[in-house]
Amino acid sequence: MSASILVVEDEPAIQELISYNLELAGHQVRRADSAEGAMAMVRAALPDMVVLDWMLPGMSGIDFVRWLRADRRTQAVPLIMLTARAEEQDKLSGLESGADDYLTKPFSPRELVARVKAVLRRRAPQATDDAIEVAGLLLDPASHRVLGNGTPITLGPTEFRMLHFLMTHAERVHTRAQLLDQVWGDHVFVEERTVDVHIRRLRKALQHTGHDHLIKTVRSAGYRFSENA
Ligand code: CA
Repeated sequence: MSASILVVEDEPAIQELISYNLELAGHQVRRADSAEGAMAMVRAALPDMVVLDWMLPGMSGIDFVRWLRADRRTQAVPLIMLTARAEEQDKLSGLESGADDYLTKPFSPRELVARVKAVLRRRAPQATDDAIEVAGLLLDPASHRVLGNGTPITLGPTEFRMLHFLMTHAERVHTRAQLLDQVWGDHVFVEERTVDVHIRRLRKALQHTGHDHLIKTVRSAGYRFSENA
């Protein structure tokens, strides 16, 4: 499993401990030591998950969660909050404000890695290694293979990530901007028409086994992965 995880923690030793263990678990970690710094990083590239300390200098962790949840682009980013206080009220406010899970310091790195995995599986299946199959099309992130009715399909890295995202978020329309965020992790420096180029390549690769029809164009909206017409 390899997810891009933004760690927001102002205490250097804890930031290091968290980052080290998440990297050891195969994740790509970016770090911020304030909510303001984290906002700039999220604006530049959407992470698969945020691990956020509650007590930060300047803007608080909880205000950062509210900011994240208020914007359509960032509202679905999975988030785990960390706190030094075990009070029940803190836990409730954290979950109410939009955290997906909650850990009280001190916690074991193993516990954190397990929670990260559980939240990703629930909230961001495209960031996990679970194989997925739809209508005879099988995508296995662990072996980086795609099979159409048992026949290997060769995809470029971008097409592979795009198909993975579409298959794990089927039956929903995704705009080009959303696909840029989710597949490229960056919506600033890539033009939206780039999405169309890669969709075309993906469909072409899927044509050989007749799976190209699974990717629907939704006029003036974007793309949808669907078994239905
Ligand atoms: Ca802190």
